[in-house]
Amino acid sequence: MAFEGLSEKLQNVFKGLKGKGSLTESDINTAMREVKLALLEADVNFKVVKDFVAAVKEKSLGEEVMASLTPAQQVIKIVNEELTELMGGTGSKLTYSPKGFTVYLMVGLQGTGKTTTCGKLAAYLKKNGKKPMLCACDIYRPAAIDQLEVVGNSVETPVFTMRDSKEPEKIAAEAVKEAQRRGFNVLIVDTAGRLQIDEALMDELATIKSAVKPHEILLVVDALTGQDAVNAAEGFNEKLGIDGIIMTKMDGDSRGGAALSAKKVTGKPIKFVGMGEKLDALEPFHPERMASRILG
Ligand code: GDP
Repeated sequence: MAFEGLSEKLQNVFKGLKGKGSLTESDINTAMREVKLALLEADVNFKVVKDFVAAVKEKSLGEEVMASLTPAQQVIKIVNEELTELMGGTGSKLTYSPKGFTVYLMVGLQGTGKTTTCGKLAAYLKKNGKKPMLCACDIYRPAAIDQLEVVGNSVETPVFTMRDSKEPEKIAAEAVKEAQRRGFNVLIVDTAGRLQIDEALMDELATIKSAVKPHEILLVVDALTGQDAVNAAEGFNEKLGIDGIIMTKMDGDSRGGAALSAKKVTGKPIKFVGMGEKLDALEPFHPERMASRILG
């Protein structure tokens, strides 16, 4: 599970603080140096770490904290609140179109887990009373369409395909019509991925975007790629505009830094985390719970 190393290190820092009773400014400075190192080792973006530690330090050195009977507890509370805020506060819920029919456009680089996540999202939506349909828009790799069909089958969700078409925006637009005609209320559009962000990919996604006007564009990134995941999020957001991030492979041994940096760097929240290869391994992302989990 991601964050294990970070969690252990932070818990050690706070154990040290708790053992002290009253705290001096120098105690706080030492602790914050250790927090900074722990975050950097977890692969959190340097600037994010700097701002984070500065904010925690300023609040911790406030009179109320220093004069309180349990200063260490107060510092931990501040770290918890700042971590929660860093990961997106409360603004990370998936939203549905008020019009009653919701389109999610799923984008991301190849291998990040996009197709699997489409299936996971369908399963999640079904559990929450929605009627989703999937749509295969990868016109380059027939195997990707096959894969989405397998995934759709596993979660008992129909998959719209037009195997002979080379126009993904038309496929997506037809899928919207078909889904509405058949009484579905969510369409999840899987798109082609690339090894890296390039103009052709962005143009194609922009064309699909204008054809179906998705309620949310969800970017799938792989936590194992660390800062590259954050850079990809920044790139997709600048070129296409995204509404949320789904961070996959958080069950792996990623150091977790991407999950901590993504919101601050891109301004867009993580909405879900992938916790395994199985199709039920998708969890809504709760910054507050994650912060508490990290701090133990
Ligand atoms: P795509 O190329 O982005 O469509 O990626 P795929 O959906 O084909 O996934 C690539 C690989 O990542 C597959 O082996 C998936 O089983 C795996 N995968 C996807 N999500 C997760 C996750 O949350 N955890 C783990 N451990 N593996 C994942």
